[in-house]
Amino acid sequence: MRVGVIGGGQLAWMMAPEATKLGISLLVQTPSTEDPAAAVTETVLAPLRDAKATAELAARCDAITFENEFVDLDALGELEKQGVIFAPSLSVLAPLLDKYHQRCYLRDIGLPVPEFISWFGDEQSSFLGKWPLVVKARRHGYDGRGTEVVHNMTELMAVWQRWGRVPVLLEEFIPFERELAVMAARSRGGEIAIYPVVETQQENQVCRRVLVPAAIDPKVAAECETIARQLLQPQSGPAVVGIFGIELFLTDRGQLLVNEIAPRTHNSGHFTIDACEISQFQMQLRAVCDLPLGQTTLKSPGAVMVNLLGYEHSRSDYRTKRQQIAAIPGAHLHWYGKAESHPGRKLGHVTVLLESPEFAMDIARKVEYIWYPASES
Ligand code: ADP
Repeated sequence: MRVGVIGGGQLAWMMAPEATKLGISLLVQTPSTEDPAAAVTETVLAPLRDAKATAELAARCDAITFENEFVDLDALGELEKQGVIFAPSLSVLAPLLDKYHQRCYLRDIGLPVPEFISWFGDEQSSFLGKWPLVVKARRHGYDGRGTEVVHNMTELMAVWQRWGRVPVLLEEFIPFERELAVMAARSRGGEIAIYPVVETQQENQVCRRVLVPAAIDPKVAAECETIARQLLQPQSGPAVVGIFGIELFLTDRGQLLVNEIAPRTHNSGHFTIDACEISQFQMQLRAVCDLPLGQTTLKSPGAVMVNLLGYEHSRSDYRTKRQQIAAIPGAHLHWYGKAESHPGRKLGHVTVLLESPEFAMDIARKVEYIWYPASES
């Protein structure tokens, strides 16, 4: 089988070896030969929103999946009408691409979400008294870009003007106890596979580390799974084919709120490459190609995944630091081979398998001590 992928970043790059294992040929649509996946797969070199290029991709593939949702859904709709198979289907993607639409969708299918409104910059709303608020760009935000906490009207107006006066999603600030995430997949034939629930830790809205499994009450984990199933197979509306990353807040009262859905593989699932028999990347391919999904259990009692984020503008390959991190017992380092580093850019990650989940924070600190200059860690 031949699978096309829209997007050639590190997610497609990590999917490539999994495709080889399954005997699937992978072809990616990505704008630059410097993108990670371009080095390891056949490519259609074009912007992600270029539907003509996607038509070319489709002509060479049996199905198309996504590693990036910054697509032009209307243009892809024409291809779907002509019989191109997208997984997930475009009707599954449609309510998820704009953060405001996504929130409405989650609320409408009965999932618990933070209070929110769409705000156009000039209207009054009682919501504007409930500071602090979180303001989010409705589209094209990622890795914390496009998400800010604001404490008053002046700060809100400053963000809104900086973002070009576009409509935004405004939501209540949740003083969460923890942030959780769960990866969940559904195959074309309806089989569902759910990975263990993990804890994600963000700094400045960007994920720094993932603790596997999350130290939570089994009841909370079961509730996360129920939410995942509801998302993959809603009571009304189309079912998902593919994999979803689901981000949640756990409040100090034990309540779960869904923060965000990524309709693809996700940073919070990177641990699966080394800590599980079947990685999230292989799982996405299995779901799309309707292969049996297989096991999602952990191979070790615990694991910790630490993102290696850029902290300077540089073209360094950070060889020495990488060697030091890779030498930590149980460490599996993944370096994305990006040509340039800039602050906040994901350059790689490391997953360390643990004899006990209790060691997760100590090991994360050890990695970050090696990786970041003293002023950053
Ligand atoms: P992105 O699309 O960049 O991942 P998110 O909406 O997931 O953006 O927000 C990034 C991070 O910002 C979250 O992981 C969380 O730490 C923080 N955050 C987002 N929304 C809220 C909220 N309503 N209350 C408190 N913190 C939030």
